[in-house]
Amino acid sequence: MNKQLSDRINSVTPSATLEMAAKARTLRTEGKDIIGLSLGEPDFNTPDFIKKAAIQAVNDNFNSYTPVDGYVELKDAIITKFKRDNDLVYDKSQVVVSTGAKQALYNVAQVLLNKGDEVILPCPYWVSYSDIVKLADGVPVEVATSIETDFKMTPKQLEAAITPKTKMIWYSSPCNPSGSIYSKEELRSLADVLQKHPHIIVVSDEIYEHINYGVTAHASMANFEDMYDRTVTVNGVAKAFAMTGWRIGYIGAPAYIARACNKLQGQVTSGANCIAQRAVITALTESPDRVQYMVDEFKERRAYILDLLNSIDGFKCNQPEGAFYVFPDVSAYFGKTINGSRINNASDLAMYLLEHANVATVTGDAFGNKNCIRISYAASKKDISNAISRIKSALS
Ligand SMILES: *Cc1c(COP(=O)(O)O)cnc(C)c1O
Repeated sequence: MNKQLSDRINSVTPSATLEMAAKARTLRTEGKDIIGLSLGEPDFNTPDFIKKAAIQAVNDNFNSYTPVDGYVELKDAIITKFKRDNDLVYDKSQVVVSTGAKQALYNVAQVLLNKGDEVILPCPYWVSYSDIVKLADGVPVEVATSIETDFKMTPKQLEAAITPKTKMIWYSSPCNPSGSIYSKEELRSLADVLQKHPHIIVVSDEIYEHINYGVTAHASMANFEDMYDRTVTVNGVAKAFAMTGWRIGYIGAPAYIARACNKLQGQVTSGANCIAQRAVITALTESPDRVQYMVDEFKERRAYILDLLNSIDGFKCNQPEGAFYVFPDVSAYFGKTINGSRINNASDLAMYLLEHANVATVTGDAFGNKNCIRISYAASKKDISNAISRIKSALS
């Protein structure tokens, strides 16, 4: 920690998923054969029909600054997508395009939080939520859940976490890292609690919407008439369209929030990348069926990895219904010594697996859960199979 640096940046925790990837890279340069199951991105290339649109945009000279909140045609495509997939009606004043869903979330925190405002985060939550909240002087309030409730927050837990300082609640569904999906009924029961607290705003991160394995239908909080005016719907193309590096995300929100995000962005990025925006017009305008092949493949791998993981003593897995991660509870190992290494927590186990099985995973601590590790199955079946058998033998 450098004293020259601001307290703000010194209070931020480096992204654990990126740190794990860096450690894996270092070990690889030392000649170790590391299988990486730590990163949260599809192992597919961006589909050709989207790449073509980008190439076309380059040739058509889309090279100037774009409107700060996104090209009008892209906002139209987003509005059509919200209606088509989510039955949500937004107009142009309610939509803002940003440099990834991550910036969309960052904007929302910056424009809504004052010092000391609390944000309820059901655990496990996406790795960046708590630091994005802290960067806006907010206070993350973690609500612990466990595998027994499929890692979902109950209405009772929500009620108990609310204080006069509560400003927002943030969650992702499908959830990164647990793969859990809140059903419409479950969201309604959370909304019922919020009825008694009309000042609380909901941030619904739906970036894994299309990576859903068909058990629980995707539901949006903003679909409830009484929640529409107090919900920010966050989405993006990184995951379902295999476009992580293109950096495009967006929100549908009450107009006053969208306007504030636009104002902030105007002083920070001047808007998202022009070519990426043109490509995303095509991605969102085409039917989601065109990217279903990736979902089908993830679904197969999910069954495959669950089978393998369930054969390891001490790994307790939920059945992820979406996204591409499993989040096994590994607390059975805590307090044990394996091959001379003492395992006291999930971080110790993740480190042990990196060093003794040469498999990179991520500790649940990074997601606000101390009992689990996150394993990504956005990897080939061969890598999955090798990784899990290495884990199994390293632990036996
Ligand atoms: C990957 C991810 C994001 C960030 O998406 P980008 O568009 O790449 O910024 C946001 N939320 C969740 C839950 C994610 O997994």
